[in-house]
Amino acid sequence: MNLCRARSLKLSLSNGIFSKLSLAGNFETVKQLGFQNIEFNMKAIRKEHDRDVYREQKALAASGLNCLTLHSAVLHIKDPIEVHQAVYYGKISLECARALGVSLMTIHSNVSKRIPRKLRERCLKEIFNEEIKPFAKKLDVKLALENLSYTSTGFGKNVEQLEEVLSVIDDDGMGITFDLCHALETKQTASLMDKYGPKICNVHMANKSHRPFTEPKPELVSFLKNLHGLGYTGPITLELHHSTSVQEIAKSKTLFEELLREL
Ligand SMILES: [Zn+2]
Repeated sequence: MNLCRARSLKLSLSNGIFSKLSLAGNFETVKQLGFQNIEFNMKAIRKEHDRDVYREQKALAASGLNCLTLHSAVLHIKDPIEVHQAVYYGKISLECARALGVSLMTIHSNVSKRIPRKLRERCLKEIFNEEIKPFAKKLDVKLALENLSYTSTGFGKNVEQLEEVLSVIDDDGMGITFDLCHALETKQTASLMDKYGPKICNVHMANKSHRPFTEPKPELVSFLKNLHGLGYTGPITLELHHSTSVQEIAKSKTLFEELLREL
């Protein structure tokens, strides 16, 4: 059985948007907006110290929120000398996922789009095959690779690039975090959906530039219908630009509650 299909579809909010607030403050804001679920984004932690995962664990428990997914800290490396840093980012994120009781972690390829293919392959092997994947397996956390936008410094914006990454790091157990904002910006929605539909475990939801959807645009409605048609019942994670106002978030939440009810 595919575990991604076993969960019920849940509206969630990424706390990356409140990364300027304290941890307790950003959980509180998520709650005040009426969300029950969050994606914990490692960017909410300004400075990483290994033992801080206990602080995050305490703050989440005090908030009463359900943490469905965790977005890994990422570094799009340009040189193999930086592998150890990307590995550290990935591993401390996995430790945080374990502390928060989360079984799904969103990752990026962690390699820059600017390095040559051969070096990219070497870096991917060293980061994922030698380090991150065995560690994720040990902690029982599933990994879900995210499609990126053309504005990202990282590699993996379309099927061709994601297939290159997966050909090195996947052994069939890798899920996909489908970012609709990135797919709209790169005009890759249909091809990504066709290729990865059944592997989708998490959805990052926003209009272009991570602006909130506040009305049922045709591209949004058809995306949700396709997703539903695939039997997807995982998280719909609103991932919004940090300048989004509380009013806009609330409006977007209302829209998604309606759209998801109608599916
Ligand atoms: Zn995203």
